[in-house]
Order: sequence, then C-alpha cells, then structure tokens
Amino acid sequence: MTPFQAPKGTFDLLPPDSAVYLAVRDALSDPARRAGYGYVETPGFEAVGLFSRGVGESTDIVTKEMYTLTTKGGDELALRPEGTASVLRAALQGNLHTAGNLPVKLWYSGSYYRYERPQAGRYRHFSQVGAEAIGAEDPMLDTELILLAVEGYRKLGLTGFRLLLNTLGDRNCRPAYRAALQEFLRGLDLDEETRARIDINPLRVLDDKRESVRAQLGGAPRIVDHLCEECKEYHEQVRELLTASGVAFEDDPWLVRGLDYYTRTTFEFVHDGLGAQSAIGGGGRYDGLSEMIGGPALPSVGWALGVDRTVLALRSEGVVLDLPAATDVFAVPLGEEARKALFATVAQLRRAGVATDIAFGGRGVKGAMKSANRSGARFALIAGERDLAEGVIQVKDLESGEQESVAVADVVEAVRGRVAAVKGQLA
Ligand code: AMP
Repeated sequence: MTPFQAPKGTFDLLPPDSAVYLAVRDALSDPARRAGYGYVETPGFEAVGLFSRGVGESTDIVTKEMYTLTTKGGDELALRPEGTASVLRAALQGNLHTAGNLPVKLWYSGSYYRYERPQAGRYRHFSQVGAEAIGAEDPMLDTELILLAVEGYRKLGLTGFRLLLNTLGDRNCRPAYRAALQEFLRGLDLDEETRARIDINPLRVLDDKRESVRAQLGGAPRIVDHLCEECKEYHEQVRELLTASGVAFEDDPWLVRGLDYYTRTTFEFVHDGLGAQSAIGGGGRYDGLSEMIGGPALPSVGWALGVDRTVLALRSEGVVLDLPAATDVFAVPLGEEARKALFATVAQLRRAGVATDIAFGGRGVKGAMKSANRSGARFALIAGERDLAEGVIQVKDLESGEQESVAVADVVEAVRGRVAAVKGQLA
C-alpha cells in the first residue's frame, strides 16, 4: 500500500460508484443542455481578486475557505470556491454579452475547493453542476432555471427535496432594509465576530446556524416587508410562474445564502434525509455582480447543484439508478491463437459501434468468464483452438446461458444484431 492518502476532506471516485456520479452529473445538466445552455469550462484557479470582489470580502468562502497561492511569477491565485464569478468573467472576457444574443445561457460541471471543516456531505473538494443566464432581467428566466433544476432531480428519481424561495431586494430597497436589520442586530447578545459582521454584511447574520443566534432572530425585520414596488412585483411574478408550472415552493424570508452578490430571487433546494448539510443546490439572481468585477450592467441569474450531496440524497431515499452496463460484449480467448483472433474481432466490433471488452493477461478460462460476468456484458465471445480450426466463434448469451457457433466472418454482424435486439427490447 502506498503511504499516500487522499488529502483530508477529499475522496476519490472509483468504479463502480464513480458511474453513479457520472450519471448524476449527466442527469443534472441534461435539462439545461436541452434548453439552450451552452457548455462553458473555465480554469480551476483564478485571480484571488475575482472572488474577493465578486463573492464578497465578508463571506466565509473568501475570508476562511479559499485555497490561495502565490505563483513563482508573483500572481495571487485561488482555487475556485464556486462557479458563478468565473463563468461571468469568462463570458465578459469572451465578449459573449456583446454578440446581441441575450441572455447568454451557459452550463458547466467541475471541481470546487473550499477549506471547510470536513463532515458528512461537506468536503474540501466537491463537484457541482451549474447553469447561468447572463444579461436578462425576466422573471420567466429565474423560473426557467428553477424548473430545470427540479427536472434534473426528478429525472434521477429524487422526491424528498424542497424548494425554499426568497427575494433579497435590489439596490433601491435593500439599503433601507439593511439599516433596519443592523439596528435590530445591534440590540442582540452576540459575540465579537458576529458583531463585526453586522457592519460588513448584516444579512449574513440571518444565515447563522448556531442555536444561540437563531433563538434571537425571531423578531428580526424581514426583507419582504421592505421591498420596493419593482422587487415586489418581480418576486410575485416568479411565484406565480412557479405555481402555474406546478412546482411547490416554501417562502423562506430568512434565506439569504452565503454569497454577497445575490439580488432579488434566491432559492435553495434542501433534502431532509441529509442532516446538517441539507442543501443539495441553490442559486439566485445576481444583477450587480458584473459591475462588481468591472463589467457592464448585466442582470443575471443562475444556480449550482451539488453532485456529491445529490448522490447522498439518492442514497438516503434508497434510489438505485438503473445504469446500463458499459460493455455489451466480452471476449474470452482460450489459448494464444485465439487471443490474436479475438483481439482482431474485438477491434472490428468496436469499430462497428458495439461496446466490447476482452480478457487480458492470458488468464485461465475460469477467471476470464468471471471477468465477463462482472463486466455486465450480455454476450460473451468464446474461442479456443478447435473453434478456430472450424472457423467459428462461440457466442454465449450470459443471461440465458444459450450458446451458438457463428462463422468468424459473420460474427460482427451477428453480435451487433443481437445487441441491438436486446437494447431494443429494453428501450
Ligand atoms: P453554494 O455555492 O455554497 O450555494 O453551493 C451550491 C451547492 O454545492 C450546495 O447546495 C451544495 O450542494 C454543494 N456544496 C457546497 N459546498 C460544498 C462542500 N463543501 N461539500 C460538498 N458539497 C458542497
């Protein structure tokens, strides 16, 4: 065994479980891909300033959780703790917003890094699927994104999740609310660090999970009571559109989320089977972020769904994904001549589009058949010297156990037909 271990708070994805993660990533992003969102991939690290300016100087993510480094060339970089700031930076840099086709709709999937205290569902390296719609202010767009996330969860068979919804107002109405909240918070019994937060970002105090703080927040002013007419109207439209789409939601006046850039619509998907780390995804509108990072005014909205926690949520519901085997055919050669012959057949099958594997390493027939069964393939191709002398290969249906000799020249077509027939039945 190697003395090296995956770093604290991280884990490896290994077969067979890794297939579940791939399928979850695929299912969560599929609805967005089909709704006109184009794929975007950005570097795993960015200039520190992008996050401190974008995500916010006062957030836990920036002050405590960022992995930062100075390069040999003197650049201050950070491993990305979240996706939105990077994606917006990339869209601005690539001038996607000037092409006259707004909103720019993008989706992504990848690794994110936060130096958090590891626990179940909270890791230092985790995986998200995200979607962002940049450059449009339209309640239908906020609703579209929420619907796409719901569709992703539903596609996976997840049922025990709830949608929490709130609005954070905008630059017109938030300042007065902020002041009212600050006044209220200053009257509470809070520790030094939390008191400091009242000055920098009082909304974040509403997000405090400690019971000692929560117990005092009951009478706090609520943003819903301080919204300007435009924000009220906008939020009402999002709520109506969700209702018309048949998506249940819970109004949560305390939902502020941990990032500074949110305005208006904010939402979170929580799953009750997960304990403390119950958020499986979240997002919202960030109308001011573009300007915060030096771009033009570009009202935008987006979400990020946690892949790791979605997998945990599926597990907690006992949902087992129906994942088709990766290989349909497994070749078992008996002897050196057969190895060469079957290796050539396997290459032909693969070229013909049939997912095929073969036993390597000159293993005995027993071991090779075990591999064939483990692979999940429906058919095995078996050939020994006698078969080759007769110009045939045995095609065995591993489900029924039936076996048939097929002429070597016909085997590709025959196997392809059988695989197609089985898949057709399944479909
Ligand atoms: P956030 O940007 O914090 O709202 O994150 C979006 C989603 O990513 C959350 O709802 C979680 O599902 C997931 N997530 C965030 N942080 C972590 C973490 N440390 N470990 C695992 N998943 C995370």
